[in-house]
Amino acid sequence: MKNILKNFLIFFLILAVVSTILGFFSSQKETTTEVSLAKVVQQVKDDQVKSILVNGSELTITLQDDNKEASKKEASESLTELLKNYDVPTEKISAIDITVGEEPDGGMFMTILPFIIPALFIIGLIWFMMRQVQGVNNRAMTFGQSGAKLADDKRKKVTFKDVAGAYEAKEDLKEIVEFLKQPKKFTSMGAKIPRGVLLLGAPGTGKTLLARAVSGEAKVPFFHISGSEFVEMFVGVGASRVRDLFKKAKKASPCLIFIDEIDAVGRQRGAGLGGSHDEREQTLNQILVEMDGFDNQTNVIVIAATNRPDVLDPALLRPGRFDRQVVIDLPDIKDREAILKIHAQDKPLEKDVDLNLVAQRTPGFSGADLANLLNEAAILEAKANKKNIGSLAVLDSIERVLLGRERKSHILSDEEKKITAYHEAGHALVSHNLKHADPVHKISIISRGQAAGYTINLPKRDKKLQSYSEFIDSMAVLLGGFAAEKTFFGEVTTGASNDLQRATATARKIVTQFGMDEKLGPRTFGQKDEMVFLGREIHERRDYSEKTAETIDQEISNYINEALQTALRLIKEQKNKMDKIAGVLLEKETIEKEEFGKLMA
Ligand code: ADP
Ligand code: MG
Ligand code: ZN
Repeated sequence: MKNILKNFLIFFLILAVVSTILGFFSSQKETTTEVSLAKVVQQVKDDQVKSILVNGSELTITLQDDNKEASKKEASESLTELLKNYDVPTEKISAIDITVGEEPDGGMFMTILPFIIPALFIIGLIWFMMRQVQGVNNRAMTFGQSGAKLADDKRKKVTFKDVAGAYEAKEDLKEIVEFLKQPKKFTSMGAKIPRGVLLLGAPGTGKTLLARAVSGEAKVPFFHISGSEFVEMFVGVGASRVRDLFKKAKKASPCLIFIDEIDAVGRQRGAGLGGSHDEREQTLNQILVEMDGFDNQTNVIVIAATNRPDVLDPALLRPGRFDRQVVIDLPDIKDREAILKIHAQDKPLEKDVDLNLVAQRTPGFSGADLANLLNEAAILEAKANKKNIGSLAVLDSIERVLLGRERKSHILSDEEKKITAYHEAGHALVSHNLKHADPVHKISIISRGQAAGYTINLPKRDKKLQSYSEFIDSMAVLLGGFAAEKTFFGEVTTGASNDLQRATATARKIVTQFGMDEKLGPRTFGQKDEMVFLGREIHERRDYSEKTAETIDQEISNYINEALQTALRLIKEQKNKMDKIAGVLLEKETIEKEEFGKLMA
């Protein structure tokens, strides 16, 4: 609005300047003396006139003495007629040199100026409005554009050095960078340049980070877009954005396109019921079409990332599309230490902080969790006005990330504290006594996040596979809390509900997914269909009979029951040890691994 006003003001200013200049010029002409027509006639009769210049109604009279006069006549009447009408003899008229000139410019201009100004004004207004409208149009035109961001150098450049672990992924991506830099090297050997690389991995394992590293390493243009950015409210926009993205990319070739979170558009087609699935299908189809459309000369490589490979459309994974799949696992202990080292670089750690120990205590943490852990530690120490980050803060942050922050304000009553102490002691005691259970790492009755208390069990080393015995023992450990409450207080509280959920889920998986149950045998039960409807709704399709369903239910109950019996037996056998653990917990609130070992000895 301000802009419009400004433009108008400028427009008026120019108009004013122009008209004053014009006025100035036309007024300069009037230097001769003005006389009446009768006087001119008299002068002609007296032979004083040498010549007359006629310009429409204007007369410019030059006298014999070269003086000039100006006069006016009616424009319609010719000068000769006029003189004749005034009874001037014909010889006298012919003696005068009469010239009929052009209509005088200034006069003409001055006559039409009143028309020109409003006309100019209107034209200006129209032009101005057109521009405004065009602006809107332009914005509408960009709607179908991809909005892919070309990676810029403003952010700190990420290189492969900033990514710890993920060794295979880095190797594969280095190869891709190589392809882009020296395509000849590969094509001369008859090798086909891969079109797409799919990064698969759990959330926070560094997929986006790796892609940024590729952009930092490859000195080629790098287009970055998130899958969800393709999809707007209107059908067809996604597809046109894909087209636009690939068009831009082909122009910039050799280059890289990175589509983050591709599962937003790359879900299995035809699986959805929701209204938006048409749009997604069209977008996905367009991606497939574009990737097929690359000829061997087009040096564009598409990198995509997802944490849900199970929902991807198989057509995406076909050779010629995302034919390379790079799986990024959760980091193992060595990689965790390396990741911690990278993120500790810009943080002032005390000398006693042992990152190896932190790595040991964080199995199952993703790279993002580890980065978060050190960040939490830094915040904790900054709040305490410390200069450096100490070991305690770092270790405490592990639990913060794992369970949420401590809720010191959430004070348990004495009775609740006692129940929680026995509940946690139950978990700890059972896991201590079972061979396949993970060793107890820490017990606490300080509430964190949702939990009133917690017992942390850590595996001795990172595990990729889990056995039947481990599942059986872990269910007994989960029921340890329930069993303890039942044994010591005669009834159970809501505190055991989460344990029961987890135990039941484990039992169900043993039976229906892992084929570990004797009675039901090595097969799976139920097929998971993902409904692309209202987000993530998992719908299980039954592929078994009612009778089998009953057996499954029975088996699950059996597992839970056995686990409960194991827990109850152990707790009843070692009631005195339970009292000891609970006593220490009530007194100190937490028990670390070493102290627990001593208590149990
Ligand atoms: P994803 O895209 O896989 O969900 P991100 O790439 O966004 O995960 O990772 C989130 C953050 O976690 C990164 O910005 C980085 O700080 C940290 N991170 C994850 N993996 C690593 C790694 N391997 N090395 C260093 N930092 C990592
Ligand atoms: Mg990501
Ligand atoms: Zn519990």
